[in-house]
Amino acid sequence: MSHDQFCAVPMDKRAIFLPQCLRSADCPADLTTEGLVCKRCMRCGIGKVIDRLEEEGRMVFIVPGSTFIKRMIKKYHPQAIVGVGCLLEVKEGLEMADSINMVAMGVVTSKDGCVETTMEWDRLLEVASLVPGDPLTAISLAP
Ligand code: SF4
Repeated sequence: MSHDQFCAVPMDKRAIFLPQCLRSADCPADLTTEGLVCKRCMRCGIGKVIDRLEEEGRMVFIVPGSTFIKRMIKKYHPQAIVGVGCLLEVKEGLEMADSINMVAMGVVTSKDGCVETTMEWDRLLEVASLVPGDPLTAISLAP
């Protein structure tokens, strides 16, 4: 629904929110006020793609709790967000974004559960880097 609006937002005004369940159970990331900070230990997919997600100034956060996304939006004022999560989380996230008039795209994880979930990282990279004229087929709404 937000595809065209999202494409028009500059890369450095986009924030990507990753759920902490994508991490390895042995993740050594530090918990800070900016969320979990990935140490690129490569135990999970986050470490392998986070540098590419951050290219061109995109902000990337690993979400530690439910109020975190709103807090980072208030602090950094992104013009668009990409939220990753299970279908229910993405649905709730899109509703939250709608309630604050935030342009948002959702990418659903490909394995449910609360520990060591997985996702199609290429599809997330595709969505995060959408530009005007890119086709709607780049959106990932299903595993
Ligand atoms: S790559 Fe980053 S997020 Fe993944 S387990 Fe290592 S420190 Fe944690």
